[in-house]
Parts: sequence; structure tokens; C-alpha cells
Amino acid sequence: MSKRECGSCSLCCKVLEVQAVFKAAGEWCRHFRAGTGCEVHKLRPKSCRDFSCLWLQEDWLGDEWKPSVAKFVMAWEYDGQVLAVMVDPKVPNAWRAEPYHTALKMLAERHMSENRLVMVVEPKRRILVLPDQEIVVGGRNDIFAWEVTRKGDGSNRFHVEFEAITDGGKGGGMRFDDQPAPMQ
Ligand code: SF4
Ligand code: SF4
Repeated sequence: MSKRECGSCSLCCKVLEVQAVFKAAGEWCRHFRAGTGCEVHKLRPKSCRDFSCLWLQEDWLGDEWKPSVAKFVMAWEYDGQVLAVMVDPKVPNAWRAEPYHTALKMLAERHMSENRLVMVVEPKRRILVLPDQEIVVGGRNDIFAWEVTRKGDGSNRFHVEFEAITDGGKGGGMRFDDQPAPMQ
């Protein structure tokens, strides 16, 4: 277990949605004060108490992944099946910079064999990150179902069946084939 501390970072007080304090995703919480942090610290909602970002938990993520440095907050969703990269709307493309972009693609590839996905979570929408492509798949609070299967062609590539089920699946499903990397 990591012994890391938040220090001067407070990015989760901006990127997360916290319904208990009527806080929208991507906006600073009304209870946050620069320099002193949460002004309702002792009474903060359970979701704030319970939140611990991935950088805080995982020593294998270097200091460049600290949210205040990277400008995005990573956390598990869907009981550990989605690695969410929650972005600061002020710098929504910070995850596309290196070393993050390449590393997120590698994580996406590694997790697909366990039916896990990497998603970039913006205040209003979600982007599915696959090893070879990035696809806007729906709204931030949509609910999704998916199945990743290994392609049967011996190529070590994957096929993804993906569906937003928020509206009972009326929007239809999406299918993605993880393509082989182009020849160099
Ligand atoms: S984003 Fe992580 S490191 Fe930053 S304040 Fe929140 S829990 Fe702490
Ligand atoms: S209530 Fe406090 S800990 Fe929770 S988001 Fe607001 S400022 Fe942050």
C-alpha cells in the first residue's frame, strides 16, 4: 500500500461530480478554498472521504502521474473494470501528451484481455481508448455494457462489443476491431 499523500494537489475537488454538495464535474467545488483546501473537511460527503485516486494508491505510477502534474485524475470505475482518466476541462487534452498517451494505450491493450477498458472522462462525454483508436462513446453519466473477445485469427488482437444501456439500449451497440499497428 502506498504511503503517498495529496500534498498541494486538490484536482479531484474539480474534476469529480459530487452530487451531495451539488457539484458538477469539471468545476471547482464551492467548498474548496485555494491554499487551505476543503472548508467543510470534517463534514465532507462520504464520496469525498472515500475517494482515493490511482496515483495515491499505486507506487508504480511515477510522480509525473500525480494529478496536479498530469492534469487529470485516474480512478477505477465499474468495480475495477474501467480505468477512468478524468480530465480537467481547462486542459482536456493533457492525456494526449507524452508520456501519458503511449502509456494509456499500453494499459488499454494490457487490460483488454481481462475485459477491462480505459476511458477518458470529460465533464460531458466519454472517450473509449483502444490501442489503435479513440472513440467518443456517450455521455459522462451514461451506463455501458461491453464484451471484449480475442479475435480468432491468431493475431493477438481484440474485438469489442460496446453498448450504452442508459436508455435501455435504444441507441444500439457499437463494434470495434482493434487493428494491428501499421508497418513501420
Ligand atoms: S486527485 Fe488524488 S492526489 Fe490529488 S487531491 Fe485527489 S486524491 Fe489526492
Ligand atoms: S466537499 Fe470538500 S472534499 Fe468534497 S469536493 Fe468539495 S471541497 Fe472537495
